Amino acid sequence: MLHSLQCPPASQQRGDDREVRVRVEADWDACESNAVCAGLVPSVFEIDDDDNLQILDGDIPADLEQQVRHAVSSCPKMALRIVE
Ligand code: SF4
Repeated sequence: MLHSLQCPPASQQRGDDREVRVRVEADWDACESNAVCAGLVPSVFEIDDDDNLQILDGDIPADLEQQVRHAVSSCPKMALRIVE
């Protein structure tokens, strides 16, 4: 099931003043928790103690956008997507 996360307006500011341009969503049913994304961007993706993927913060700051896009395209299960 694809969990829909609310998409913020373009250029929304985070509390820490880092510009947010995109969000990342996970299809939890497709994810096999193999940690590829967590290895690429550990500040956004994490595998918890129960071997489930956790998205630590779906609001992606501009300085992490390219890394997150790389993680999304690297997911072998195509379980991640960017919401512009
Ligand atoms: S790379 Fe894909 S399958 Fe692996 S943990 Fe991340 S979302 Fe899940």
